[in-house]
Amino acid sequence: MPELPEVETTRRGIAPYLEGQRVSRVVVRDRRLRWPVPEDLDVRLSGQRILSVGRRAKYLLLEAEAGTLISHLGMSGSLRLVECGLAAAKHEHVDIELESGLALRYTDPRRFGALLWSQAPLEHELLRHLGPEPLTDAFEGERLFQLSRGRSMAVKPFIMDNAVVVGVGNIYATEALFAAGIDPRREAGSISRARYLKLAEEIKRILAIAIERGGTTLRDFVGGDGQPGYFQQELFVYGRGGEFCKACGGTLREVRLGQRASVYCPRCQR
Ligand SMILES: [Zn+2]
Repeated sequence: MPELPEVETTRRGIAPYLEGQRVSRVVVRDRRLRWPVPEDLDVRLSGQRILSVGRRAKYLLLEAEAGTLISHLGMSGSLRLVECGLAAAKHEHVDIELESGLALRYTDPRRFGALLWSQAPLEHELLRHLGPEPLTDAFEGERLFQLSRGRSMAVKPFIMDNAVVVGVGNIYATEALFAAGIDPRREAGSISRARYLKLAEEIKRILAIAIERGGTTLRDFVGGDGQPGYFQQELFVYGRGGEFCKACGGTLREVRLGQRASVYCPRCQR
């Protein structure tokens, strides 16, 4: 599943090809995403100049003159640039054709993603209640400490809650808790301020590295398909249950927390 670093990498990859470009037409081959692609998307976007490509949490925001296209990659979505008119393979549902001769192609085998049109994207129902961006000053350890008081849920699902902070998916929550030495099963409300300050720093550090490396799935945005990203090789615990701990040599354990697999080191994390 694309996590925040992959979405940010996508944003950085596609933005130079979109910003300032005018849309010539939108071709929708299959509307059936998580919510139907608007019937009038072609009418709304054709002739519009794309002003900016932004991001809020895992939503990409293609701001045009008359409104904004909100895009979410769901479980298996991706965006890349192709030559206009390139024959579409299965699951390549939407092309946004540009006057430059390139088209932004949306591919999504599982169709859990979304393409929605909004005049006020930040007030959209899906975005309105989101917590702060992890890489901004609005997110810091004090916020985690304050919001966690009296909470009995485990710390891992707590930091994965989008109302607390956005974009901390399973990979990054697992890695940040390891780096901060915090057992993912521990009650959120029982963790000290000092440990939350450390945890917030680790969340920021790990997400920043992952973005720098192009996420766990590196993509070539003009042509090409996904390849394993460099960050994959730097994972300490995620996906390594039963293997050795790179810090202490002990055996990593796997538990399920909030329906998600969680790997941790019983020696390094308390
Ligand atoms: Zn260890």
